[in-house]
Amino acid sequence: MTQGKTVLILGGGIGGIVAASRLRKGLSREHRVILIEREEQ
Ligand SMILES: Cc1cc2nc3c(=O)[nH]c(=O)nc-3n(C[C@H](O)[C@H](O)[C@H](O)COP(=O)(O)OP(=O)(O)OC[C@H]3O[C@@H](n4cnc5c(N)ncnc54)[C@H](O)[C@@H]3O)c2cc1C
Repeated sequence: MTQGKTVLILGGGIGGIVAASRLRKGLSREHRVILIEREEQ
């Protein structure tokens, strides 16, 4: 069985959101994509 990987993205700016979106669409569901933003908005 293949173990899923976790991709951690720091920063929910334009770059972070685009990267998270593309990775989520491109990676299979066994892999996790986590986006962390330090600001509350
Ligand atoms: C005043 C101003 C006006 C601009 N106007 C335009 C414009 O009209 N058109 C245009 O195309 N571009 C404009 N830009 C440039 C545009 O904002 C940047 O190019 C773009 O936002 C960069 O995106 P980014 O994701 O790299 O960084 P950011 O958008 O800066 O996002 C980085 C994020 O990472 C978070 N972060 C940082 N460190 C950590 C950490 N350790 N842990 C968790 N989160 C963290 C920050 O809180 C932030 O939300 C402007 C910039 C400024 C300053």
